[in-house]
Amino acid sequence: MKVTVLGYYGGYPDNGIATSGYLIQTEKFNLLLDCGSGVLLELEKHLNPYNLDAVLLSHYHSDHIADVGVLQHYWQLAPNKPKEGPLSIYGHTEDEEHFNALNWFDDTVAKPYHEDDVLTLGDLEITFKKTQHPVVTFAIKIKDKTTNQVLVYTGDTRYFEDLASFCEGADLLMTDTNFYDDKEGQKWHMTSEETGKLALDANVNNVLISHLPQYGDLDDLKKQTEMATNNSVNVILPKTGMVIDLKDVKSLN
Ligand SMILES: [Zn+2]
Ligand SMILES: [Zn+2]
Repeated sequence: MKVTVLGYYGGYPDNGIATSGYLIQTEKFNLLLDCGSGVLLELEKHLNPYNLDAVLLSHYHSDHIADVGVLQHYWQLAPNKPKEGPLSIYGHTEDEEHFNALNWFDDTVAKPYHEDDVLTLGDLEITFKKTQHPVVTFAIKIKDKTTNQVLVYTGDTRYFEDLASFCEGADLLMTDTNFYDDKEGQKWHMTSEETGKLALDANVNNVLISHLPQYGDLDDLKKQTEMATNNSVNVILPKTGMVIDLKDVKSLN
C-alpha cells in the first residue's frame, strides 16, 4: 500500500501547501482520503481523478472537504471519462446536510459509513473509531488485505485515552499534530507531545505527523514528537508529493 501526501496543513492552505488529503493506493484500488483545499490540483499531478475508485471523508470541516465540490465538477465536466458510473464518496451520516451534498447528479454518489462498520473497498478493509472533536469525526484504519499492511489515520482529534488501542498494529500512523507542545488552553487537536505518547502507547514504529501548523519551525514539531517517544519512533515530516510505500516505511527518514 502506498500513501501520497497531497496536503497536510490544518485549517487553511498556505504557501502553496494544501490542507488534508492523501492518495492511498494498492495494485487494485485508488482511494482519496480526505479532500481538503488544494488537494485536487495536487492529485492531478499523480493520478487522473477519473481513476479514483472512491473518496473517504473523516469529517465535514472545510479543511477536509473544501475540494469535494470541484472534484464533483471534474467528474461531471472533464473530457474523456474512461468509465461509466458515479464516483463513490463515503462519509458519516450524522450530519445529513453534508452527507447529502456528496451526491452530485449522476456523477458522484454519497455512501454511508458508521462506527461499527467494516467497509470493504476493493482489496482494502476499513474500520472506524469516533474521535473527540467539535464535530463528528472518525479515525480510520485501512488494511491492505493482500499485504496485511495497516495504515491508521487519526482524523482530527484531541488526545484521548482510548485512541491508542485503535492505532495498535499500524505500520504507519498518520496523526493530527496541529500544536507544538507549549500549546495551552482548549485543544481540539493533538500536540507533538501527545502524538509521541499516542505512538508509544499504540506501540507503532512509524508516525507521519500531519494537520500541521502554518507557523513556527516544523523541524521543532518533529523533534518534540521524537523526544516524546524517547527517540524510539520514526517520525516523518510530510512534504507535498511525498510517496510512502508501507513495505519500506521503516527505512524512510
Ligand atoms: Zn482539520
Ligand atoms: Zn476538524
